[in-house]
Amino acid sequence: MSIISKDIQKAVALLKADKLVAIPTETVYGLAGNIYSEKAIKSIFATKKRPFFNPLIVHMPSVESLETIVSDVPEKAKLLADAFWPGSMTLVLKKQSSIPDIITAGKDTVAVRVPNHPVTLELLKQLPFPLAAPSANPFGSISPTKPEHVARYFKNDIEHVLDGGACINGIESTIIGFEDDEPIIYRLGALALEDIEAVIGKVSIKNKKEESPDAPGMLDRHYAPATQTFLTDTVSEDIKKHLGKRIGILLFKSDMKDDTITTQIILSQKGDMAEAASKLYDALHELDHQNLDVIIAEKFPNYGLGKSINDRLQRATFSI
Ligand code: AMP
Ligand code: MG
Repeated sequence: MSIISKDIQKAVALLKADKLVAIPTETVYGLAGNIYSEKAIKSIFATKKRPFFNPLIVHMPSVESLETIVSDVPEKAKLLADAFWPGSMTLVLKKQSSIPDIITAGKDTVAVRVPNHPVTLELLKQLPFPLAAPSANPFGSISPTKPEHVARYFKNDIEHVLDGGACINGIESTIIGFEDDEPIIYRLGALALEDIEAVIGKVSIKNKKEESPDAPGMLDRHYAPATQTFLTDTVSEDIKKHLGKRIGILLFKSDMKDDTITTQIILSQKGDMAEAASKLYDALHELDHQNLDVIIAEKFPNYGLGKSINDRLQRATFSI
């Protein structure tokens, strides 16, 4: 029997019983558990093989729930919450003491978000607790944007994937923290930098690897296919380096006429970066299951969502 179903009541019952449920969001599917259940949270880390130094995002049904989770909201965070929630933005704020250390990896801050998906908003409204929900994939691998991706990863480990269809935005939320009340982007994502700056002005980005990364979504290699993957401005040149191999190509908008490649996927024929972002991980899942020797991905224009897509593609490669 398939573990994929639209049954919200089953999800409520499992979550109340300290079990995990995979939930749809507009970014990627999450592996969710009750933030106050040590059993559930430990099994999120165990199921994903996620290291405990990597904190979890808390998902809430509405902005009003914020006061039970965080202790201080800077003015610019209020502006962002009003502008973008429900939506693909995560804020990192000072936590309430009631938030368990295992959620925050011992930090005094907690990452929070109101996701914008009708099924999960309904689920959150029916639950007496918020949900911790990292992406529903084994640590480091490609994030899931369809219920089938989750089932393929975890069919023996979880009982229920709540079906909300394909994720509309398709890459992870943009994470914004505050240092001395000034906003800093810890992870580029589904909400474009330009949209954020339109609300609160110039924002700095700190998403390169450091000694102790604030958001391990920053790790050099993350979101990665098992197949060796390259990112390049010059796809035709790179193909020549791999002649004789089974080559898969991932392109933004134009196809390639080249007999030496095995397969190609075009992310948006009309050149729409939002469409490309929504299809990105599904395309990587597809290519990764075609027994290719190598995947060559084309670099995106480096603005708007193109910047976030390039960030993910770069982390999918071995070469940075
Ligand atoms: P995932 O849900 O798997 O997409 O990953 C959640 C991301 O949020 C990770 O990169 C975490 O490091 C980041 N995150 C969660 N809590 C915090 C926090 N308190 N400070 C900084 N980053 C955080
Ligand atoms: Mg993840």
